[in-house]
Amino acid sequence: MPRERFDLVIVGMGSAGMTAAEFAATLPIKVCGVERDRVGGDCLWTGCVPSKALLAAAHHAQAMRDEVAKLAPADVAGYERFLAASEAIYQVGFEQLGHVSFERWTDMVRVLPALLKLEGAQLQGPLTRTGVA
Ligand SMILES: Cc1cc2nc3c(=O)[nH]c(=O)nc-3n(C[C@H](O)[C@H](O)[C@H](O)COP(=O)(O)OP(=O)(O)OC[C@H]3O[C@@H](n4cnc5c(N)ncnc54)[C@H](O)[C@@H]3O)c2cc1C
Repeated sequence: MPRERFDLVIVGMGSAGMTAAEFAATLPIKVCGVERDRVGGDCLWTGCVPSKALLAAAHHAQAMRDEVAKLAPADVAGYERFLAASEAIYQVGFEQLGHVSFERWTDMVRVLPALLKLEGAQLQGPLTRTGVA
């Protein structure tokens, strides 16, 4: 592997490293950025960006609750059940199975019990099981 020489090596491509790299790129020097994990660091992967996304999601969820309470107070409990059912479906469908490829029918059979537990197959009429009629 050919050896390269740099004027500046920035270790870590988090916010600080990327800012430094952006500035260094304006200088007439040869710069190298090194990252051992994920480019973006804490801010992108666990800090600023995800926390703002969570806050925005929580804000929207509360706004929706407030609207249901205002427009159809009798549906508030049903809406909470709907949210709980959605969360359970998300946990199984996305968190547990999102990475599973269903190339063989046996893959589907293996996860069927988890899917049946969600009671998605028992919906009768206009979503009466979740109370969102
Ligand atoms: C929940 C939360 C919310 C936040 N919200 C905000 C916000 O809204 N606004 C804000 O300004 N800040 C916010 N922060 C703070 C912000 O995330 C940090 O200030 C910022 O990530 C620091 O950047 P950094 O580059 O110094 O370090 P890091 O983001 O930790 O990056 C360091 C990088 O260096 C790499 N590294 C370390 N050692 C080596 C090595 N030996 N070789 C190669 N690579 C290496 C690491 O893998 C990592 O990618 C928040 C933090 C948290 C936890």
